[in-house]
Amino acid sequence: MTAINSELIIDSKLLRENISYIKSKLRNESKFMAVIKSDAYGHNLESVTKSIDDLVEGYGVVRINEAKKIRNLSKKKILLMQGIYSQEEFIAAKEFNLDVVVHNQDQFKIFKENNYFKNLWLKVNTGMNRLGFEIDDFMDIYNKHLFDKKFVLMTHLAASNDKKAISNQEQFKAFENLVEKMHENVEKSIANTGCIMNFPDKSYDWVRCGIGIYGGYFKDKEIITAMTLRSPIVNLRKIKPRQKVGYDGRAIATKEMLIASVYLGYADGLPLAIEDGTKVMINNEIAKVFGRVSMDLTTVDVTNIKDCAVGDWCEFFSPKLPISEIAKSNNLISYYLMTGIKSRVKKIFQPI
Ligand SMILES: *Cc1c(COP(=O)(O)O)cnc(C)c1O
Repeated sequence: MTAINSELIIDSKLLRENISYIKSKLRNESKFMAVIKSDAYGHNLESVTKSIDDLVEGYGVVRINEAKKIRNLSKKKILLMQGIYSQEEFIAAKEFNLDVVVHNQDQFKIFKENNYFKNLWLKVNTGMNRLGFEIDDFMDIYNKHLFDKKFVLMTHLAASNDKKAISNQEQFKAFENLVEKMHENVEKSIANTGCIMNFPDKSYDWVRCGIGIYGGYFKDKEIITAMTLRSPIVNLRKIKPRQKVGYDGRAIATKEMLIASVYLGYADGLPLAIEDGTKVMINNEIAKVFGRVSMDLTTVDVTNIKDCAVGDWCEFFSPKLPISEIAKSNNLISYYLMTGIKSRVKKIFQPI
């Protein structure tokens, strides 16, 4: 007997195509760091590393355990993008030959105490106000400790997806003013996916690209969603006008309808916030969510789907149904959907 399950299918060929396409936007001298934090945005860290290693110059993660796993698979640069928080982590970073972000004084102190200034990425705050040194504080450190050292100067944009946001221009300006004061061996890095796509001339020495690899960037049709989340229909029923579907009776029939119950709920990672009318795909046709997502099931209006049957797959996103659409129509972001899929969903990684 085989148990039914929902499936998350990952197409590594699409990951590679997305990378090649994004790389075609970069300046020639820019190196490509694949951001694979949070289990490669839910795509599986090790499988992703193996399938893209020849295409990238480095990897970005947040957790040291993820960095260790990648080090077993790749000799490329690995950056701890949030740095280290203890002497133990310092030692591990050195042992595994990791690059390390330094974003505040406490972190810099660890390097000072060890008199170790190799493979550092100094992060400055240019307006995001989350992590990074204030410009003046950084200049202080630079003049005292880094004026003769090789390092990467980095910052992060707060609104890279919005080409018109003034904050981008302000952040670029603050960064460029600072760059002018640095010696010329200092490498630079600003760009995440949104910045690469909207401001390709800011790709500098390193880009740090995450969501674009996985196809969650919504403003370019060449970038394709590489994961398919699908789940089988386990029940079909006819309902009459004015009958209600699901918890709180949120969805109310206005006509005779055919309702499918699909084997995927919020305990699988489909957010409770998914609204009625959200598009899904069944037998290559669009159907719409009808009723509140419950723990193990989601109800879908399949009145207009031809020959719809129990066992048919309902796709929530896929290369044909961009993850950014379900995200946008529900005021979510594709990052959140990708990283939220739970372990009880069967993950299938299609190798190259
Ligand atoms: C996650 C992260 C990125 C990647 O951003 P995307 O928008 O997914 O391309 C880049 N830089 C830093 C510092 C990050 O934390």
